[in-house]
Amino acid sequence: MFTDSHCHLNFPELKENIPEIRQAMREAQVTRALCICTTLEEFDDVHKLATSHHNFWCTVGVHPDSEDVQEPCIEDLVRRARLEKVVGIGETGLDYYRLRERTLANMEWQRERFRVHIRAACLTGKPLVVHTRSASNDTIAILREESANAAKQHGQVRGVFHCFTETQAVAKAALDLGFYISFSGVITFKNAGDIREVARFVPLDRLLIETDSPYLAPMPYRGKTNSPSYVPFVAKQLAEIKQESLETIAKATSQNFERLFTGINA
Ligand SMILES: [Zn+2]
Ligand SMILES: [Zn+2]
Repeated sequence: MFTDSHCHLNFPELKENIPEIRQAMREAQVTRALCICTTLEEFDDVHKLATSHHNFWCTVGVHPDSEDVQEPCIEDLVRRARLEKVVGIGETGLDYYRLRERTLANMEWQRERFRVHIRAACLTGKPLVVHTRSASNDTIAILREESANAAKQHGQVRGVFHCFTETQAVAKAALDLGFYISFSGVITFKNAGDIREVARFVPLDRLLIETDSPYLAPMPYRGKTNSPSYVPFVAKQLAEIKQESLETIAKATSQNFERLFTGINA
């Protein structure tokens, strides 16, 4: 019934408890989960989760916050993206939240890394899982530029903005680029009225839901370790916002997931 489109089950908080997590998922009718990669070093673990469980899939990518790790070239991503059960490229994008003593000019490595992921996504036809934080202008600008380049070669840039916490203007720009928008437990937080307004604006056929576990547990579990079995709380909040039934939200977000990440059928 429910699909968690973004989780990190290989992270230390979760990786020892996979059987319990899977049991909780069954009880909560969460039938599928996408395991997201954040470094090439962890790819084998993430991939193993996908290949050893019929209803898990995975991505390959290096998160913009991952520093002092192997820098991916296009070929590193393309080769892994072609393996069994790898259905997307990411998470990738831009994150200027922790600049420390750096300026935006110092972050060219992040922008270059993002472009490498976009080009790998074009070459493989797989969608991008985009992370953007305090960097939406550059994220949209780079996606527009790379989309235009891809179109010249008859390619296409597709994907999802995950854990969406940006403005309606950014949502509109993402939708105009053909992207989906995924909401996490953040939309259940008391102070997230603005994000709920953005969720109201996003059409039902472009919505995804996720946990981003182990982080960002939805209400009433805020502050606890998150897991895919909590994704129905995100759906419930969306059902309220959209004035739709929980079943309608579950079905739409699951169908959208299948449409975006092709090759998924469980
Ligand atoms: Zn992220
Ligand atoms: Zn994530």
